[in-house]
Amino acid sequence: NRCHFFRQDINDQAVRRLEMEAALREALVLQESGGGAPFELHYQPQVSLDPRRLYRVEALVRWTHPRWGAVSPAEFVPLAEECGLIDRLDSWVLETAVAQLARWREAGVPVPGVAVNVSAARFARGDLPDHVRAVLATNGIPANDLTLEITERLMMSEEIDVHDGLDALHALGVTLSIDDFGTGYSSLGYLKRFPVTELKIDRSFVKELDIDAANRPLVRAIIQIGEALGLTVVAEGVERETQHRMLEAEGCAVGQGYRFARPMAAGALADWLQGEGR
Ligand code: C2E
Ligand code: CA
Ligand code: CA
Ligand code: CA
Repeated sequence: NRCHFFRQDINDQAVRRLEMEAALREALVLQESGGGAPFELHYQPQVSLDPRRLYRVEALVRWTHPRWGAVSPAEFVPLAEECGLIDRLDSWVLETAVAQLARWREAGVPVPGVAVNVSAARFARGDLPDHVRAVLATNGIPANDLTLEITERLMMSEEIDVHDGLDALHALGVTLSIDDFGTGYSSLGYLKRFPVTELKIDRSFVKELDIDAANRPLVRAIIQIGEALGLTVVAEGVERETQHRMLEAEGCAVGQGYRFARPMAAGALADWLQGEGR
């Protein structure tokens, strides 16, 4: 059978996927019941460019499997989306990140705010505004200090009633940020219809900003759109000083990326603030 090896290969992939789905499910049950902590949040600073200071941190989920070790979010987040687990994971992230913000403040660590990623599935469940309100109240955190990052793709969804959901969240006073801006093939009309106050230039535009001259007018245009609509513009994936300088020259307000800091455990943030963060 000439197809044998090929089929075997596909079979291996399918087995790995099923294994990972089962492991993910198990990890989530463990995390939710408090019987273990396979998930952890890392926090990456977003930095005001001028004057330079901490603007807020973005919570990014990490998963450590007992045998496989650290699994990349680029692998397990899409899988969690496909097998219907991402909304529960996002709920845990929201609760954990807001509680962490309260803990930093109790400890005198001046963190201005925290951003969490919201998947389409979490958004579509409808109880997000109530959950957000409850989590903020429990931890004594003002709504203003929480940002929800919602992908451009979700904004364009036709199945989900994005409008009412965003209005309800906006009414609470949380900041709404458009993640992965510029990667969807969208009309820009939604920018004025929806109550968002921030947009994040996707890393793909920032990546070659200082290498390929074609990127600069694109980034400039995105920053100008933001400016014209009164939105705060955050550039992600800023790795080099040359990118940083160009973004600053174009009037970008906030940067995020290895140039400033990698995502780090909650405990490392105080040290970062004392040193480089200043
Ligand atoms: P994202 O929301 O676009 O997050 C930014 C990603 O860029 C993070 O990858 C971050 O570690 C990485 N990054 C930051 N600065 C740099 C840089 O200077 N250079 C490079 N090369 N990369 C940089 P990460 O942590 O692997 O997360 C990947 C994606 O997984 C995120 O992309 C987000 O879409 C998703 N994700 C992470 N945490 C969550 C979560 O709690 N819920 C949901 N729904 N999705 C999440
Ligand atoms: Ca994000
Ligand atoms: Ca992003
Ligand atoms: Ca991105």
